[in-house]
Amino acid sequence: MLQVENLAVSYGRAKVLLDLNFEVKQGEVVALLGSNGAGKTTTLKAISGLVKARGGKVLFKGRPIHDLPTHEIAQLGIAHGPEGRRLFGGMTVEDNLIMGAATAGARKKQADNLMHMYELFPILKERYRQHAGLLSGGQQQMVAIARALMADPELLILDEPSLGLAPKIVTEVFEVIDRVKSEGVTVLLVEQNVAQALGVADRGYVIEQGTVGLAGNSQDLLENKELQKAYLGI
Ligand code: ATP
Repeated sequence: MLQVENLAVSYGRAKVLLDLNFEVKQGEVVALLGSNGAGKTTTLKAISGLVKARGGKVLFKGRPIHDLPTHEIAQLGIAHGPEGRRLFGGMTVEDNLIMGAATAGARKKQADNLMHMYELFPILKERYRQHAGLLSGGQQQMVAIARALMADPELLILDEPSLGLAPKIVTEVFEVIDRVKSEGVTVLLVEQNVAQALGVADRGYVIEQGTVGLAGNSQDLLENKELQKAYLGI
């Protein structure tokens, strides 16, 4: 579904991604891992058109998208949940969700999708009239994920959905990702929480020095001594 080939991104003279290659197949959850500043967020931004690649290609369903503007990439079926929840805190939960139905296709299905989100996230149904800013961190993250899903994406991109959440809530967020996966949505996930990310992902890639340093299915990565030492403190 998504192919990233020889991707290179720089900020001014700082080269962040040098030659990055990975793919996400339909129905998979793929985790992008790596230390702070490795370029994970930058990779996601390059896919959704928020930063411009200096070189390489991004193909979505075989079509090059690296030269398209962000809104066209969104129209094609890629929804990007940005790092940080970026909700409209003064708006209700429901209005935040409706904001996610940004494409013409999604707007047509808005009422059905909204009902579906309330099935997937019962707590949001209970809170639908509350201001999003008053919810707990975990609930806000659920709103952010549900809002991205309101665009009816084929590929959901999530940037550190567990960031800043208490351990119990982190577990809930990963359960939500598992539910999203069982809905047949393909997910590309950036996470610092390596063990839990690989718990939900089918495969993972570790970004090191601007390229893929390590790749494999989640079980193999979890058993990899190098990864255990660098990211799991084992
Ligand atoms: P983190 O988990 O800390 O967010 P990351 O792997 O997602 O890390 P990026 O946010 O992609 O890393 O950042 C990669 C590098 O690029 C970092 O050194 C960062 O300081 C730098 N960087 C990110 N955004 C910009 C920007 N807009 N301008 C200049 N440098 C940037």
